[in-house]
Amino acid sequence: MKTYPLTVDGQLIMTGNMLEVRNPADESVVGQCPTADLALLDRAVAAARKAQPAWAALPDDQRVAKLMEIGDLIEKHHAELAELVTREQGKAQSGMGANLEAGGAAAWARVTASLSIPVETVQDDAAGRITIERRPVGVVGSITPWNWPMMIATWHVMPALRVGCTVVNKPASCTPLSTLRLYELMNSVLPPGVVNCIAGSGVIGDRMSRHPGINKIVFTGSTSTGKSVLAGTVETLKRVTLELGGNDAGIMLPGTKIEPLLEKLFWGCFINGGQTCAALKRLYVHESQYEEVATKFADYVSRIPVGDGMDPKNLIGPVTNAAQREVVSAFVEDARKKGARILTGGKTPSGPGYFYPLTVVADCTDDMLLVKEEQFGPAIPIIKYKTVEEAIARANALDVGLGGSVWGNDIAEATRYAVRLECGTTWVNQHGGLHPMACFGGVKGSGLGTEFNVEGLKEYTTIQTVNVAK
Ligand code: NDP
Repeated sequence: MKTYPLTVDGQLIMTGNMLEVRNPADESVVGQCPTADLALLDRAVAAARKAQPAWAALPDDQRVAKLMEIGDLIEKHHAELAELVTREQGKAQSGMGANLEAGGAAAWARVTASLSIPVETVQDDAAGRITIERRPVGVVGSITPWNWPMMIATWHVMPALRVGCTVVNKPASCTPLSTLRLYELMNSVLPPGVVNCIAGSGVIGDRMSRHPGINKIVFTGSTSTGKSVLAGTVETLKRVTLELGGNDAGIMLPGTKIEPLLEKLFWGCFINGGQTCAALKRLYVHESQYEEVATKFADYVSRIPVGDGMDPKNLIGPVTNAAQREVVSAFVEDARKKGARILTGGKTPSGPGYFYPLTVVADCTDDMLLVKEEQFGPAIPIIKYKTVEEAIARANALDVGLGGSVWGNDIAEATRYAVRLECGTTWVNQHGGLHPMACFGGVKGSGLGTEFNVEGLKEYTTIQTVNVAK
């Protein structure tokens, strides 16, 4: 069995209590890694602190060159990383799956490398010169989830490195291997201690949030754990970026021609089997075309091949872990009991792996768990509405707001409605598309701060005003 090392202070650590990682497609062992104890976390933080001043002092073009080298390394190891993602997390090699994740990680690395934060001059005259400058926040603790393990690790680490921070990452316990391998690769071209990666339970993440040697936490995961992380940071007044769960609504305007949108609607709802923070998780359809849309969408979805993600014919793989499949199954059962119609899917298959079929549920109401809670899996509720105003109010009624979308024939009209959704990103005739220059973050319970773009870089800095008398 292959062992994936932790990276601490430039060294690869191969010993410790081993964690076996299982393939969600067949429950076989993919590989193993050591788990860190709190003493190893302390070592990683100390190494990051030691390495940070020299990393920040490196001439800017040299830091950029290192980040570009990381982009090249990810590209060079694309096939290996994409396979590891499929085998530990489940998403398919085909479609918007593991190859997209590995390719996206390289693209994000390079775009982030190319960004910089300009110095702002607010006064420059005979009396004096005042500039607003940015300094690296210091050591960043990155806590990452299991749904897009390598991509999200890249989203956290690249802006931190770009501005001169050093990083300690803790990946999710069911998908640590691709992140550990990514860090091993990055470590091979960076000075010791600049990047550190330690697997371990939530206890390690909790300690990171409180650790006096860490200046900022960037966390992607559930809203409840995010709140606990935020509480942990209070004592040391850390800077925080939280990218948390959502329950994104999509509203289809009356009279929308559905056929041309089916593929985009499919990926909006079911990318990575719905295990995506900004997937479409509630679809509101006008009563005048409710049956048509529900039937055509269910028919489209029922023909998508689901299975082991290593088989190129499959577009969607299993759910990543048994606990998440249980959530999805329980939500579908709750909807069924409350009168919803299962148009396709809806039954947990027997056999190995954590498969759950792509499921479309009609006649859903806002009191069903599948509508009011985040299912984070391959089941989409379709809800009937009478007026667009009512649909917007229902879309905005929840206490989360990561993304949202409006679908329609008239793009200008759809956009006018889309901007009224209370969310960090609003899409028209698509859902979930990201771009390394498009800010991404949530409002309400979906998080704090933003990622990507120069705005995302700023989150890894503190402001220093330089006020010089002449
Ligand atoms: P968590 O939010 O619990 O896990 C995310 C990360 O936080 C993991 O690395 C986890 O480690 C770590 N962690 C766990 N407990 C703590 C803690 N007390 N302090 C600091 N870090 C901690 O997500 P789950 O895996 O429990 O998934 C549950 C739900 O979260 C899903 O159903 C989904 O709704 C949502 N989710 C949202 C994601 C998003 O992209 N926004 C991604 C993943 C999940 P460990 O794995 O070792 O427990």
